[in-house]
Amino acid sequence: MRAADIADDLTDVLVTEEQIAAKLEELAAQVAHDYEGKDLLLVGVLKGAVMVMADFSRALPMLVPIDWMAVSSYGTGTRSSGVVQIRKDLDTDLHGKHVLIIEDIIDSGLTLSWLLENFASRGAASVEVLALLRKPDAMKVHVECRYVGFDIPSDFVVGYGLDYAEKYRNLRDVAVLAPHVYS
Ligand code: 5GP
Ligand code: MG
Ligand code: MG
Repeated sequence: MRAADIADDLTDVLVTEEQIAAKLEELAAQVAHDYEGKDLLLVGVLKGAVMVMADFSRALPMLVPIDWMAVSSYGTGTRSSGVVQIRKDLDTDLHGKHVLIIEDIIDSGLTLSWLLENFASRGAASVEVLALLRKPDAMKVHVECRYVGFDIPSDFVVGYGLDYAEKYRNLRDVAVLAPHVYS
């Protein structure tokens, strides 16, 4: 896709690459402080959190193991179904681990609340959440999210790992998808 065609699909850039990098540095310093001396495990939620994990984990001033979980709740639409399905489970035993879930975005919160319960039942010592983006208006379930990058309006966004029908994930910024693309 040419740059001009990509630009036609987007309206506003909500968060730039530079803003994301600066915010992840800030959150990494906080997390390093909060988890000092603890057995921390980062769990990324595929596929959206790939970019956040890559940049956040490298901003951490310490060594930390990384695992991945793939769940689906969206399909190719723009609405959460609330039905969570495991597509790829963890490789790590969570017993005694301090788990920090790395998420791209919290919208309804349905996926996360399901993950929090699931991880707690596997014996994790603690489970917290870091999300780059949060849409507070859209939250259907209250989810405790300890580290939040940016609060954004409830428009459907793409870029920096976030897709629409598997497209736009490799854009560097987070931008609003123009409604003509999906309506
Ligand atoms: P939730 O269960 O909180 O509604 O969201 C589940 C997942 O839907 C998120 O982790 C994310 O992958 C996807 N999602 C939610 N809002 C958006 C959005 O604005 N854009 C994109 N591309 N994905 C979203
Ligand atoms: Mg996600
Ligand atoms: Mg998606």
